[in-house]
Amino acid sequence: MRSLEEKRRLSHPAICARFDDVGRDGASAHLGIMGGTFDPPHFGHLACAEMAAEACGMDGVVFMVAGDPAFKQGQELASAADRLNMCRLATFDNPLFDVSALEAERSGITYTVDTARVLRAHYPACVRLSFIVGADALMTLPDWKDAPDLASLVDIVCVSRPGYLPDAELLARLERIGFAVELVTSPLLDISSSMIRQRVREGRTVRYLVPLSVDEYLISTGLYRAKGGTAHD
Ligand code: ATP
Ligand code: MG
Repeated sequence: MRSLEEKRRLSHPAICARFDDVGRDGASAHLGIMGGTFDPPHFGHLACAEMAAEACGMDGVVFMVAGDPAFKQGQELASAADRLNMCRLATFDNPLFDVSALEAERSGITYTVDTARVLRAHYPACVRLSFIVGADALMTLPDWKDAPDLASLVDIVCVSRPGYLPDAELLARLERIGFAVELVTSPLLDISSSMIRQRVREGRTVRYLVPLSVDEYLISTGLYRAKGGTAHD
């Protein structure tokens, strides 16, 4: 039987239901935070998180769905509710994964450093926090808001992504800012959300590029489909 307190926490998690209590017993733990717009989530995201978790021995990965990210201003996004739904569908069968609505529910432009502050305040010091980024995102990291503060709160795990190779100059620059960066080599999956949206718009298939549950969600909601167009039939 779950206590009332436990039931309340599971229905209103501060970060996410599965990992809210990590570190409460004082035992060391390592959480990965996989941030993104996930518009929609695809196998590139899932493999990125899985490879990072394996390489670094993480105890869990929190998919942090961005609300209104600073770097995607002027770009039309699917609603936060749709992106959260799709992330939940994409991750539910992996006990190492959970989804957080923390950023998506925050109003206004969302910055990673603010999320890192909330996470660092929530988890005790025995919980190591690593932000997982693809190699394309690593290149933009020096320009993120309050980068030195961010570097003092979390470390970075960078996973390879087709077309992007972190060079020595970038790594030196990140080190000067204070970032601890671990590079993880992963099989390259040349999949992006932009490409998925484009394919759906054109009525083409995205099967085997996104989990089946996400594909079914796209078909049933008509998300990204050109007005007047049909699903990939
Ligand atoms: P969009 O095309 O809309 O920018 P995206 O596929 O780049 O979408 P994001 O939500 O922007 O997805 O990315 C979230 C995180 O996932 C970023 O750190 C990004 O580098 C990483 N990522 C996305 N796709 C891949 C991939 N195929 N391989 C490795 N990392 C990836
Ligand atoms: Mg992107």
